[in-house]
Amino acid sequence: MDSECSDIIKIIKTKVIINDYIYVFQKNVSDGLRYTCVQRKKQYCKGSVTINSSKTKILKFQEHSHNPDSAEAEVCHALNAMKENIINNFDIPSKVYAKEVNKLTDVAACLMPNENNVKRNLRRIRNNSYPTISSKEFVLEGKWTMTAEPNQQKFLFYDNQSINSRIIFASPDCLEILSQSDHVFMDGTFSSCPKGFYQLYVLHVIYKMN
Ligand SMILES: [Zn+2]
Repeated sequence: MDSECSDIIKIIKTKVIINDYIYVFQKNVSDGLRYTCVQRKKQYCKGSVTINSSKTKILKFQEHSHNPDSAEAEVCHALNAMKENIINNFDIPSKVYAKEVNKLTDVAACLMPNENNVKRNLRRIRNNSYPTISSKEFVLEGKWTMTAEPNQQKFLFYDNQSINSRIIFASPDCLEILSQSDHVFMDGTFSSCPKGFYQLYVLHVIYKMN
């Protein structure tokens, strides 16, 4: 078999989905990459596929002992979309999770892994996608000084550019809201502070509460 396959979809780093069958990477072979069915142990399935290294052609295919599972494939697609979204936009993990889960069929939604575990994983992926902070050469510029789109505003309010960095983030909109608030809540945290920094201190106000 040597066919173009537009529906080879890279999932995470190690999986592909082809026609609702999910395969996990097994090994490099002389003519490409070999993947075996994820049901190999559970269903004793010998299904496998060998694809070229650019993942555009199926080179060899071994039949499965079971039907494809469109719900499992949906879950894989959803988890992959969440991982791409968490890296490429600024939505919070809850929103990224909800956006994809809302698209799922009922059967697929039941197969989703535990929500808290997924969100924890998304937070880890996002943190790993950020550049490593070096306190010696720490320069904030470009998109790191702005709020997210679509209503992009200046977000870096103060930076003393010292080795003992003290940085303040505040958008014009948030400062306006802060100035009009009767109560301000203050909270400091050390544990969730980015590496290289000592403390994250946040001011909160009540906004548009009925
Ligand atoms: Zn199989």
